[in-house]
Amino acid sequence: MMDLHTHLDLYPDALRLAHKVNGTNSFTLCVTTSPRAWEATSRVFSQFSNIEIALGLHPEIVSRKYVELNLLLRYISLVDYVGEIGLDGSPQNSSSRIMQKHIFENVLSETSRVGGRVLSIHSRRAVSEVLTILRAYPKAGIPILHWFSGSMSELNDAVNLGCYFSVNALMATSEKGAKLISLMPHDRVLPESDGPFALQNGEPLSPMSSNDVVLELSRIWNMPQAEVQIGFENTLKQLQLVR
Ligand code: MN
Repeated sequence: MMDLHTHLDLYPDALRLAHKVNGTNSFTLCVTTSPRAWEATSRVFSQFSNIEIALGLHPEIVSRKYVELNLLLRYISLVDYVGEIGLDGSPQNSSSRIMQKHIFENVLSETSRVGGRVLSIHSRRAVSEVLTILRAYPKAGIPILHWFSGSMSELNDAVNLGCYFSVNALMATSEKGAKLISLMPHDRVLPESDGPFALQNGEPLSPMSSNDVVLELSRIWNMPQAEVQIGFENTLKQLQLVR
């Protein structure tokens, strides 16, 4: 099993859960929401060989964490994975939009400078702007659009730009999400949970639930589950996430 976008550090009793996840998943990408959180999580989770910690600054908390931008830029050369970063176009975050954009552009400029990174990107209600900025930084690395919820034509643009997609079981069980997934190239899709924020029947999605994503994708793509699973493993290798 694997999880390409989890907030593992934010679950209650995270350390105990991390031991279990490390033993169960072959690969887990724990994204962080601020550089200070990355520092703390890296210290605690560095013992786990199957868990990677991504350095991020979540667009929804930019108003409070903008002061950590210099720290974020300074740490980029040290990490292999950057996330959660991106833009959020929801009305409640409109006041931080200029700061969000400034941070996203600066991060991509810095990842370009250091040779590119794997990027886990938030794009809720902001897909076309995210793609416009990605297009301006072609050497920024490999973009993985997490929980993509744009339009069909935005999906097409993202595919043409070379984006990957991490999808979760909630997305796959919604009508629009399933439609989007049906149109994604099979070799650009990886499983995520986005737990503990993503809730299914009131419970956070587990970082050890990629088998549920396999099951849903097998249905949507009309492919045997084993083939979906092998596809995930090959895609992960393509991204050179496994070292
Ligand atoms: Mn997230």
